[in-house]
Amino acid sequence: MSDIASLGDLRGKRVLVRSDLNVPLEQSGGTTTITDDGRIRASVPTIRQLADAGARVIVLAHLGRPKGAPDPAYTLEPVARRLGELLGKDVAFATDTVGESASETVAGLQDGDVAVLENVRFNEGETAKEDEIRSAFASQLAQLGDAFVSDGFGVVHRKQASVYDIALRLPAAMGDLVSTEVDVLRRLTEEPQRPYVVVLGGSKVSDKLGVIDNLLQKADKLLIGGGMVFTFLAAQGYEVGKSLLEEDQVETCRAYLEQAKERGVELLLPTDVVVDTVFPSGDREPQPSVVPASEIPADAIGLDIGPDSAAAFADALSDARTVFWNGPMGVFETEEFAAGTRAVAEALTQVDGLSVVGGGDSAAAVRTLGIDEDAFGHISTGGGASLEYLEGKELPGIAVLERNIHG
Ligand code: ADP
Ligand code: MG
Repeated sequence: MSDIASLGDLRGKRVLVRSDLNVPLEQSGGTTTITDDGRIRASVPTIRQLADAGARVIVLAHLGRPKGAPDPAYTLEPVARRLGELLGKDVAFATDTVGESASETVAGLQDGDVAVLENVRFNEGETAKEDEIRSAFASQLAQLGDAFVSDGFGVVHRKQASVYDIALRLPAAMGDLVSTEVDVLRRLTEEPQRPYVVVLGGSKVSDKLGVIDNLLQKADKLLIGGGMVFTFLAAQGYEVGKSLLEEDQVETCRAYLEQAKERGVELLLPTDVVVDTVFPSGDREPQPSVVPASEIPADAIGLDIGPDSAAAFADALSDARTVFWNGPMGVFETEEFAAGTRAVAEALTQVDGLSVVGGGDSAAAVRTLGIDEDAFGHISTGGGASLEYLEGKELPGIAVLERNIHG
């Protein structure tokens, strides 16, 4: 595995580092505020490590989903400023990615300096499906540096110019953020300590089929809640009222229930559910009530697992040595429907072993519910990337480094 040390002495070298600085922004009255700078904070250690080693650090990153052309709504400028504050040093900002501003900014760097280039997705080459278009952009990027460090875990499952193609063109290494994530994911897939419990929730079962498929082969227990659970309850023959239901996945869920039985995997579904007659919004005070999972009224929407189920889930987690949790148990954004998610999150903090939280909304739930982040073994910075890894898919941004063509 090629880590930063494999790049040798970095003093005076121009090092391009791909970070994940894709933070949520709020625009109001002409000012932009970063509502959660977690990803910038997570990117600081590698950038600092490179600068401390005397490299001229050039940060590549994206923000949002601009359409392959400059769009002021998605400028990285405020992000670069915040990075400077966190690093405690001046950070130069280039107003383009491979244009004049970038060349001048890079040329002006001294050893140990840091620059951020404008949003890589302002160039259509970043996300192009066609290899030639991506390659051309990657070659331009590669001219700005002497080495490449991949540290944006949230994007390693993307075959994009600043993630994948660039690593074919420069001596390339994995940053510590990415290698930590990969180590944890390995521990979840290769000889996990048992009992191994997987908790899945979130909105749609169709997003998570691949993970369920793969983890049914590996886990001892599978606990299911969140919006996806109603498709499982329907597969069990229950009525689910107006709850989230993916009709076209009912058969698949039935097959999973069968498979779990055959493999001796304990598959736990909630026995009670918190319901309301409307989806929570600002318009009306929530009116939660608890019903048995087998008796959801026709006009009810299931919005959380009930208290009995929350206790049963916590109990099922109590002897676990390895836990992977993805997806909130309910609509945790509304306090009345947050108890199931809170119970699972708190149970994870008590695990004697490795507890991993994957998924953007699950990580956000931990933070908004005020649960100590340090009490978890690991909170992944990349939801999509960790799910794809656990599905058994190859992550292009990792594979390209492991092939280590320049090493
Ligand atoms: P993650 O980002 O952790 O992978 P998802 O994106 O799959 O999680 O799902 C998160 C969303 O699922 C949350 O916004 C939450 O409100 C929603 N959700 C959870 N339970 C339900 C439910 N019973 N009905 C509808 N939506 C739900
Ligand atoms: Mg999500």
